[in-house]
Amino acid sequence: MKRRDLLKLATVLPIGTGVVSGLIPVSAFAKATVAKRDILKELGIRTFVNAAGTYTAMTASLMHDEVIETIKEGAKQFAMLDEVQDRVGEKIAELCHAEAATVTAGCWSALVLGMAGVLTGMDMKKVAQLPDVTGMKAEVIVQKGHNIGYVHALTNTGATIVEIETVQELEKAISEKTAMMWFLNSYAPSGKIQHEEWVAIAKKHKIPTMIDMAADVPPVSNLWKYNDLGFDLVCVSGGKAIRGPQSAGILMGRKDLIAAARLSAPPRGGNIGRGMKVNKEEVLGMYVALEKYINQDHDAEWKMWEGKIDSIAKSVSSITGVTTEVSVPPVANHTPLLFIKWDETKIKTTNKDLMLKLRNGSPSIEVMANGTGINITVFMLKEGEEKIVAKRVREELLSAMA
Ligand SMILES: *Cc1c(COP(=O)(O)O)cnc(C)c1O
Repeated sequence: MKRRDLLKLATVLPIGTGVVSGLIPVSAFAKATVAKRDILKELGIRTFVNAAGTYTAMTASLMHDEVIETIKEGAKQFAMLDEVQDRVGEKIAELCHAEAATVTAGCWSALVLGMAGVLTGMDMKKVAQLPDVTGMKAEVIVQKGHNIGYVHALTNTGATIVEIETVQELEKAISEKTAMMWFLNSYAPSGKIQHEEWVAIAKKHKIPTMIDMAADVPPVSNLWKYNDLGFDLVCVSGGKAIRGPQSAGILMGRKDLIAAARLSAPPRGGNIGRGMKVNKEEVLGMYVALEKYINQDHDAEWKMWEGKIDSIAKSVSSITGVTTEVSVPPVANHTPLLFIKWDETKIKTTNKDLMLKLRNGSPSIEVMANGTGINITVFMLKEGEEKIVAKRVREELLSAMA
């Protein structure tokens, strides 16, 4: 009997009749009572194989079942939001060698709340006053090479940015107005001053430091490396490679600064962070995701990624005119990356066209453009999807051959 027929039967037969109990397993009833709803399909939303990476616009990453289960169970009970944050914060701090931690609404929110904490300390009047920073130290020193869009999270609080390039300029810029020294980990190579020196100079002048390492795991050790190095605040995205809720992140570091940051965060109102609420189930989900991420076998995962990258590379590299190259970005999205390019006199398609063909194919696949070729990553692929990606990219390249 097909499942559909069983369901039909279940709706016509009265519960408890001998016929039913002898015929239909109990599980069929359970399924019949809560009909599974494919909401994405119902709304006509395109789903796809993600061979691009943890991009915010692509909803970044998929949570593990344990995380989803945590969210589901956590959603069924009331608890005090602060108590959830207290307990989860203690656990996260322990896992990452920090004095304290709190779950934020993404790394961006960690930047805003951490900055707010530095500006206000435990002074509730100052908390209520932001983004008016009158009477507060409010300058943040940033290396020119690190001054890309993310500092907007800091200036949201009313703080202002002071750009420097050399150690000499840094020493000159430090004054009575200096609130914090900020470091963007993924742009460390673009700066003249590296982590250790940045922290040492800040400590000498008793200025708090913050590092943004949003997308900078793997390696997993980065989760404690910057706490160990002495940064006072460390900001991480929860929904990138850690595979927590996309709307969660972590702020960790000095106990007094985390306590101060939380004064600007829900459940307290009348502050600049009131719109950065994280519900209790996502706070719990963030913790479980982090714990799972830290405890997983990273070497085995890396080998699996290499295997998948290799199989995709092999499937296309035999095509005349196609070349492949495997690399690993040194910092941020540090996973094996496959670059595929082709001789456009032999294969008559641009990378944009190829991307469209992959997107519009079945199943839909997302890859990234890079120069005139495409980039493929495998860390967001589900099991077996590398075969689909290999097959589809090969098909499209072959069909474009002159
Ligand atoms: C992604 C990212 C952010 C923002 O993180 P969310 O978790 O999306 O809020 C901040 N800084 C850097 C460097 C990032 O890559």
